[in-house]
Amino acid sequence: MMFRNARLRLTAWYAGSLAAVLVAVGLAAFLILRNEIDAEIDDSLASIPGDVLPGLVPAEAGLSRREGDTVRGDRFPGPRQGPGAIVPTDVFTLVLGPQGEQLFNSRNVDLTGWPLAKLSTSADETPRLLEFSAEGEHFRVRIVRTDIARGGPAVVLVGRSLATRDHQLEVLVAVLGAGGLAGVALAAVGGFVLAGRTLSPIQRTLETQRRFVSDASHELRTPIAVVSANADVLLGHSDETVDENIDHVAAISDEARHMSRLVADLLTLARADEGSLNLELGPVDAAGVVSSLIDSMNALADDRGVTLVAQTTPSPTEADPNRLRQVLTILVDNALKYTLRGGSVTVTCGRRGSTVELAVADNGPGIAPGDQGRIFDRFYRIDAARTAGGAGLGLAIARTIAEAHGGRLTVDSTLGKGSTFTLRLPARPSSR
Ligand code: ADP
Repeated sequence: MMFRNARLRLTAWYAGSLAAVLVAVGLAAFLILRNEIDAEIDDSLASIPGDVLPGLVPAEAGLSRREGDTVRGDRFPGPRQGPGAIVPTDVFTLVLGPQGEQLFNSRNVDLTGWPLAKLSTSADETPRLLEFSAEGEHFRVRIVRTDIARGGPAVVLVGRSLATRDHQLEVLVAVLGAGGLAGVALAAVGGFVLAGRTLSPIQRTLETQRRFVSDASHELRTPIAVVSANADVLLGHSDETVDENIDHVAAISDEARHMSRLVADLLTLARADEGSLNLELGPVDAAGVVSSLIDSMNALADDRGVTLVAQTTPSPTEADPNRLRQVLTILVDNALKYTLRGGSVTVTCGRRGSTVELAVADNGPGIAPGDQGRIFDRFYRIDAARTAGGAGLGLAIARTIAEAHGGRLTVDSTLGKGSTFTLRLPARPSSR
């Protein structure tokens, strides 16, 4: 649930920021284009050559063309005028009388709905640019009040319909809108997939940690219950001696030891998880570690009726001797634990090229192929009932330590024949 929300939030942020960028870019493109078009329109309105105007005005309007006629007192048309100026075909010229009456209409533009009177009264001697709409169509006009030669005062209006501009802008908005929507939709889908990919390893790690904590708590529950039950019995026997209750005291002591081992194991794994196993690496001859371990475990092997032998040759490596011993202890202890009376466990160690190989081989029950990959998992036990005492952490710790040394721990086993656990560590180059 938490991850679903995070995934949706990430996707929303991703698509949202893309949408914001697209809107900003689109708006900028829209405004820039509109400014460009408007500037071009304004130029076209200003570029009517002065001598064209009277030529366009029919004699009936009282404005006749004469060589040299100009529009008087006017900065209209603009500075770019000249005989060569090109007048766009949709530019029209109107001449209005002082009350807005139509004197001249160069292209017979339909003036229905035009605020002629208002335009006429708002005209000034300085040309002004105005935009207005009539009958749903936009127009941009340049308007000036002037005296036309021999025609008296009039309002001259040069204008252009903005229909083309509006259409171009509509197309732009449609293209940007559709493209943007498609882009954002694509980004949302891509973002959702990406967020899922990013989050799933985190989710798996969290799930592993959660299971680790719950398994650990579960593992600690039994010994705590045993300690608590035995302590309760002792409380009820306060008038008796320790000797009379030695079983209860022994049970408490055993369970306490068990818990302390479990907690130590959990701590080792937790440290390894956060990368702070703090190995004290130094040159070590693994053969020496094996010999000393065999010496200390011989009594246990005798106890279990299992023969424990070692075959070693010098095996120089770089290791933390205590951690190396811990790995071997786990392997030998398992081998002794799972091998039946009369069986044998052989520990060999030697150098094979650039690696040092340590192997613990037993002729015990062996491990089924399906279990071989899982016995290194935390809390995994093949047959919980048969492996009394173990929490299923030994091999997980052994492999973690092996990997922290840059080495590998593998198993090779045949059901009914026995198992061999092999630890390979990088060999230390022999120095002479
Ligand atoms: P445990 O605390 O149960 O020994 P380990 O992680 O050391 O946990 O081992 C995991 C499981 O692998 C054990 O429960 C056992 O079933 C199996 N196993 C380990 N070593 C051997 C072995 N030498 N022979 C057969 N089975 C083994």
